[in-house]
Amino acid sequence: MNAYDNALRQLETAAKIMDLNSETLARLSNPEKINQASLPVRMDDGSLNIYQAYRVQYNSARGPYKGGIRFHPQVDLDEVKALSFWMAIKCAVVGIPMGGGKGGVIVDPKKLSQNELERLSRVWIRAFRPVIGPEKDIPAPDVYTTPQIMAWMADEFSQLEGKPSLGVVTGKPLEYGGSKGRGTSTAQGGFYVLEAAVKQLGLPEKDLKVAIQGFGNAGAVMAGLLFEAGYKIVAVADSSSAIYDAAGLDIPELMMHKEETKSVKGFKGAKEINIEELFALEVDVLVPAALENQITKDNAENIKAKILLELANGPTTPEADDILFKNKVVVVPDVLANAGGVTVSYFEWVQNLSNNYWSAEEVDAELRERMIPAWQAIWETGQKYQVNLRTAAFVTALERIDKASRARN
Ligand code: NAD
Repeated sequence: MNAYDNALRQLETAAKIMDLNSETLARLSNPEKINQASLPVRMDDGSLNIYQAYRVQYNSARGPYKGGIRFHPQVDLDEVKALSFWMAIKCAVVGIPMGGGKGGVIVDPKKLSQNELERLSRVWIRAFRPVIGPEKDIPAPDVYTTPQIMAWMADEFSQLEGKPSLGVVTGKPLEYGGSKGRGTSTAQGGFYVLEAAVKQLGLPEKDLKVAIQGFGNAGAVMAGLLFEAGYKIVAVADSSSAIYDAAGLDIPELMMHKEETKSVKGFKGAKEINIEELFALEVDVLVPAALENQITKDNAENIKAKILLELANGPTTPEADDILFKNKVVVVPDVLANAGGVTVSYFEWVQNLSNNYWSAEEVDAELRERMIPAWQAIWETGQKYQVNLRTAAFVTALERIDKASRARN
């Protein structure tokens, strides 16, 4: 099953449970618009390469399209369609007045020089300029796209418009229209949701044991926040190793170790384990923060955590979801757990349009204001329909999209 089939299956499941209006279901069963272009890029050696590029605009019932651009050799249209649908859900889950979009280019950016990457980024904007813009569709970074790429894109769009148009993309560098707190927003949002979940489930607020898969932007920042808040992080994995220390890992020291050696492997006092052992640990909280399809029907039965917080996108398969629900593991779904990223992207756009920039404290307070009510709404929906929190998140989002859709038609 490809990602888009999966997305449509999630839509159907939620639609059935809530008896979604048939017109809204029909609208959401296809993207509003698929934009496609062939991008010619002059290489440093003088040759010309053509790259296939997409911008899928899935649904705009609640506002302009929002979603990242992925530069990856495995990008395909079905994946972009699925990701754009999930963005519509994610924005509705956290109450951002935006719809869902996503872009992609079939390219291996690691094979491009900085100059080639800049030319590709600028030509992407020239190709899609008619359909994007601060009031229409606002891209952002995704896999292998960076703040630098966003800066080139905002600059290209501004030059073509003949005026500064910083609100055309988010995830820009701080010096060029970026927002404070954007780099840590995904983990910070996940942290607020976790705190709310811990309270809801009546777990003790100190010394909860945590295992984290992934020690990059999402996972390492989360580890730091949890460590500071008094959680005991007993295991961490990156792509080269998984490590365990029953007494709890010293996360600031582990960050320095990773900085020096590029891996968590060999951290002093920690024992090396494998990833399946990490998933099966006697912990309170398990945080997948690396890749998709990690928790499957083959290992879901082993999970002993009370809360599984999905900082990664799509780490749990539908079969594993059913097993975890049966075993009363509370899965906080990606569309809520990692929605802090798009929330602060939205704040960046608001700051760009108003030309008024917020302090780190203001960004953080506003993020909290979005994440906690989102958790509460989804928890209550889960209780009402007796479904897992993923379906509850979809139902909550679809109710909001449906209301906007029907108000307009
Ligand atoms: P990243 O590249 O910074 O970090 C990924 C981490 O996963 C690295 O530590 C890497 O070593 C580790 N990893 C890779 N393969 C692994 C494996 N087989 N086993 C264990 N660890 C492995 O990426 P990121 O930005 O932290 O993103 C991680 C996940 O979070 C992705 O699913 C991404 O879509 C999702 N996410 C990130 C953001 C964000 O703002 N960074 C926002 C929303 C969702």
